Amino acid sequence: MAVNESLFQQPIQYLKGVGPKKAAAYEKLNVRTAGDLIRFYPRDYLDFSDPVPIAAAVPGETCIVKATVFRKQPEQRIRKGMSIFKVFVTDGEQDLTVTIFNSKYLYDALELHKTYYLYGKVAGNLYRKEMASPVVLPESEQRLIRPVYHQTEGLTSKTIGKDVSSLLSALSDDVYDPMPAQIVREQGLCHLRFALQNIHFPKDRSALGCARDRLTFEEFLTLQLGLLRLKSRNRKETSAVIPPTDLTPFTDALPFTLTGAQQRAVREALADMNRTTPMNRLVQGDVGSGKTAVAAALAYALAKNGFQTALMAPTEILAEQHCRTLQGMLSPCGVKVCLLTGAMTPKQKAALKDQIALGEYPVVVGTHALVQDTVSFARLGLVITDEQHRFGVGQRARLIQKGDNPHVLVMSATPIPRTLALMIYGDLDISVLDELPKGRKPIETYAISSDKRKRAFGYIKKHLDQGRQGYIVCPLIDENDAGELNAVTAYAQKLSREDFAGYAVGLLHGRMKAAEKEAVMGAFARGELQLLVSTTVIEVGVDVPNAVIILIENAERFGLSQLHQLRGRVGRGEYASTCILVSDHRGEETRRRLKILCQTSDGFALSEEDLKMRGPGDFFGSRQHGLPGLKIASMAEDMDVLKKTQAIAKTIIADDPELSSPAHRGLADMVADLFGQADENSFN
Ligand code: ADP
Ligand code: MG
Repeated sequence: MAVNESLFQQPIQYLKGVGPKKAAAYEKLNVRTAGDLIRFYPRDYLDFSDPVPIAAAVPGETCIVKATVFRKQPEQRIRKGMSIFKVFVTDGEQDLTVTIFNSKYLYDALELHKTYYLYGKVAGNLYRKEMASPVVLPESEQRLIRPVYHQTEGLTSKTIGKDVSSLLSALSDDVYDPMPAQIVREQGLCHLRFALQNIHFPKDRSALGCARDRLTFEEFLTLQLGLLRLKSRNRKETSAVIPPTDLTPFTDALPFTLTGAQQRAVREALADMNRTTPMNRLVQGDVGSGKTAVAAALAYALAKNGFQTALMAPTEILAEQHCRTLQGMLSPCGVKVCLLTGAMTPKQKAALKDQIALGEYPVVVGTHALVQDTVSFARLGLVITDEQHRFGVGQRARLIQKGDNPHVLVMSATPIPRTLALMIYGDLDISVLDELPKGRKPIETYAISSDKRKRAFGYIKKHLDQGRQGYIVCPLIDENDAGELNAVTAYAQKLSREDFAGYAVGLLHGRMKAAEKEAVMGAFARGELQLLVSTTVIEVGVDVPNAVIILIENAERFGLSQLHQLRGRVGRGEYASTCILVSDHRGEETRRRLKILCQTSDGFALSEEDLKMRGPGDFFGSRQHGLPGLKIASMAEDMDVLKKTQAIAKTIIADDPELSSPAHRGLADMVADLFGQADENSFN
């Protein structure tokens, strides 16, 4: 037992056949120890157990056939260092020519009159089929399902398979299983040794199924235990119990009436905050549904009871905008709002921090600058984070620690399908803003190809001439890629000199300094710029009601939800708005996606579609939600396992909240592994 545990901790470099050079390549795959390697699951499998007749193999497609060698052509040298070998095989019905480039080894491995499984892309035509450099397995091979690993430079799937295989053979049979024996028994899970062996080199389909079930279960149970533990630590008493508060001075000062959905969300949150346990609520609202007004109403109630509210936004632009909006809504009723961002000078920051610590500002808006150690509050009662998917669990936790178990409200514009949200957050409460403010006109959406771009520009100019504003969005795959950035900058210049000569055009991208960004955004918000050419930094939350038209270049590069977010930058005021999606992509899926977007304006419906088409990565990738990344379990496909583990995790945590009993030692280790030691500590 101990043997395996120390083996798992061994740096990958010292494994047989690895060494420093390969270890560096493994590092790129986040594989550092033997334990990481054994948990580096295949991304796919090649299943040789189900070959097709050669006659049914379609040229252009990849397939597996089983055939016998009947002729071997001698080596042909085409030029120096380049040889072709041809081997002719048949399955009795049709022949196939196997072409091998430069690999004498593979050529020799295919023996005359012997039968093999061949996997590769079929070329040629229906009558003369060929397969170049196939993957070959002898007929006698027992394990017909082969792993396919994510590869990286210097590490092929095959090499990884070999290393995993030698590691597996070094494992003793009684490999330490972190899962309590009782759960393994009750759930009918296979043993860990079996699971590890068969997830990499399955004996057959059913063994693979067992292995996958076991590892999926393990991963979800770990996730649920970790989340529950975080939550149970938040379930302490709060000193910020907010008594029923009259909001009329606030609502009377608003230039509009709150929608029914906004009123409901406010009511629900106020009811939460009237209790002695801290609120933990998610407000989900489609773009433009008015989440900020909900935040303002709650901040007002807190202020009237002598508590501070901190609102954290993911970018400077958004923090600044929130500050302006909250000031607009709150200063008429005597509640002061301040802004703290990283862009301020140290002197300004220091002065402001003193005032915050003294409680002079009941509402503090900021970027992640708010979580710095030097920021403290006089009486922090409510923490609001906007667009939560930009923050890690840890960042939010650090802000929460600045109060005495303050209430927490998370505002999200990524509509997570409700079922998924409930699953993942368990007993987190959710308010949905499912009603847009009155008088909003639907955004007309069109998908066009780039040859119609000039006409679209003409249409945009017509709007600018009428005093409206517009956006042109150019996607950057990587905000840090200088080459791409230059391309966008050059494009913006071309637009301002040629297509939009005589108009006030601004450029906004992620690499600009905060102050520059703010200057551009400010100028646009004030109407000094007519057209804003931007990368996706405008994606979240930017609110300029006079902007009525948005054109999105290379629309195929975005997911539905993201396009919907971008589109939500317009249609925020009284004017009818337009969104133009430009794409020359002819792919079936792209066209379908863009068509759906033209037909639907319901963010929740779109996110369900996105979930179906692209999987849940967009909602639950660790990057987006601050949740740990999953290696094998799928939020979309393994929903029943997720439900089951949630119930089991609840029972375990109810008995042993800290997972400190010896029987749960393995589980505690797994939670620590999945959530990362560093982040975990910040909750203590
Ligand atoms: P989001 O939910 O996308 O963050 P915002 O809070 O930015 O939406 O609000 C979008 C716009 O709608 C803002 O200009 C805001 O002032 C306005 N708004 C919010 N609530 C209402 C309402 N009840 N009636 C009219 N306009 C509203
Ligand atoms: Mg917003």
